[in-house]
Amino acid sequence: MPADYHSHTPLCHHAEGEPHAYVNAALAAGVSEFGISDHAPLLPEPFDDWRMSERELPEYFDWIERARSHAAGRLAIRAGLECDWLPGCETWINQLSTRHEWDYLIGSVHYLPDEELGIWDFDNPKWLGRWASLDVERIWTNYWTTYATMATSGLFDILGHPDLVKKFGFTPAGDLERFYAPVIDAVAAAGCVIELNTAGWHKPCGQCYPDPGFLHLACAAGIPLVLSSDAHAPAQVGRDFAQAIGVARAAGYRETVLFDKRQRRPEPLP
Ligand SMILES: [Zn+2]
Ligand SMILES: [Zn+2]
Repeated sequence: MPADYHSHTPLCHHAEGEPHAYVNAALAAGVSEFGISDHAPLLPEPFDDWRMSERELPEYFDWIERARSHAAGRLAIRAGLECDWLPGCETWINQLSTRHEWDYLIGSVHYLPDEELGIWDFDNPKWLGRWASLDVERIWTNYWTTYATMATSGLFDILGHPDLVKKFGFTPAGDLERFYAPVIDAVAAAGCVIELNTAGWHKPCGQCYPDPGFLHLACAAGIPLVLSSDAHAPAQVGRDFAQAIGVARAAGYRETVLFDKRQRRPEPLP
């Protein structure tokens, strides 16, 4: 199985499990490498209630070390972070990038700056009621513009769950390629890797992130790929990877990417 680089730890307050349990699950799933990428701290603190704080970073490094000692050479354990893209975050992300010898940084859009709603974490289940009364076309336009800006920043190795905005199943009418095409151009120009994130199959949308139509265009544009479970519990490591390999191959992919200290190399897809 390909590497699984998107996983969380209890430091973010909404994931569970000890390092040894994640490593055992990764070994059982047969992934080629396992990466830890918990929600990165955000300033000013407390920013929200679903991430580690800055002063917990040493505890996070220790958590990764515990995973490495349990793996004991049986499996490469990679160190990453899932960083949030927010307006003006560049200085902070640059600082974070020097705080550890990271193997990769994932950039994700969980927050949207909205002219009417302010900055809001649109994928938080607490906003499910709000979504029903929103102009979905407007939110989608805002999401994809934000995503393209994140790609262009050049701060991230991997871009997380590309169409997370569909999480609760709210999708504009018509051909979605009008949203995909400009962002795929931006991602390809920036040279970023995207992830095929299997968690979406277990959310209200019932689809992986991104949509196979997006993935097809991304492959044609030469954008490299990783597979991700986005595990928030050990049992989720490598979840649905067989199905994801089928989706990736159908989109045209024949390889994924491995990361080591922010350098990448290809790995053939099974
Ligand atoms: Zn999370
Ligand atoms: Zn995420």
